[in-house]
Amino acid sequence: MKHIAKKRFGQNFLTDQGVIHSLVEAISPEENDLMVEIGPGLGALTQPLMKKLNHLHVVEIDRDIISWMESFYPKDKITIHNSDALKFNFAELAKMSKKNKIRVTGNLPYNISTPILFHLLNNIESIIDMHFMLQKEVVERMVAEPSTSEYGRLSVMLQYQLKMEYLITVPPEAFDPAPKVESAFVRCIPHKTLPHPAKNEALFAKIVTSAFGQRRKTLRNTLKEYLDDDGFTNVGIDSQLRAENLSVEQFVSIANFLA
Ligand code: SAH
Repeated sequence: MKHIAKKRFGQNFLTDQGVIHSLVEAISPEENDLMVEIGPGLGALTQPLMKKLNHLHVVEIDRDIISWMESFYPKDKITIHNSDALKFNFAELAKMSKKNKIRVTGNLPYNISTPILFHLLNNIESIIDMHFMLQKEVVERMVAEPSTSEYGRLSVMLQYQLKMEYLITVPPEAFDPAPKVESAFVRCIPHKTLPHPAKNEALFAKIVTSAFGQRRKTLRNTLKEYLDDDGFTNVGIDSQLRAENLSVEQFVSIANFLA
């Protein structure tokens, strides 16, 4: 179909067949999976996925693409959800599957990648795994280790719930139009049991947000609402450190000390 890419929807369509092939290999769809693709666009991933799956769900916001998909794809092979992925009820869809769980994939619109990740985290118990194409810089932040410049709130909040694997770096030329930045493909699998469970997850999230709110400042400063010097001594964390120096486990130990 003739389609002019819309910037506001973050449309960069994958065109490199070699890359597409590697992504589908990495996703490794099984015919009975309940898979949902976010942002199918013109079908770069949708079509090879449909070949491997009995049925595919897609969530797309662009009405022009929706009407093209409705006329182009066989109705029994695909369910087309015309929705903003940020508002889409993934847990509801998961109820349709025997396992009550879905697999999620997509070449995500980069302008909303962080909110989508957090939206999916809120539905984590409905998710088997997720494979996403994102801006490379975002994937580096997702998988970052403590005491690196990439390590931040996103790393801590995602690593708390997910095991992540940086899979493939993808150059701008693999897309049309080519984005300005490099991309990367990442696999996220929810931990079966949390390695470091927080007694109060909302409190844990607040502490992480406060600590990284001013990432150049010491914890003594950024967490003064929560911990005094004795508190830091009690949890065994040096208050002169900064947020970026703390592991997920250490953030959890602060939250659990307060809970
Ligand atoms: N998967 C395709 C398209 C990627 S471009 C490919 O790889 O070629 C990103 C896609 O996400 C576009 O189809 C865009 O319309 C869609 N999109 C953008 N914002 C969205 C949102 N909030 N919810 C659902 N889809 C969205």
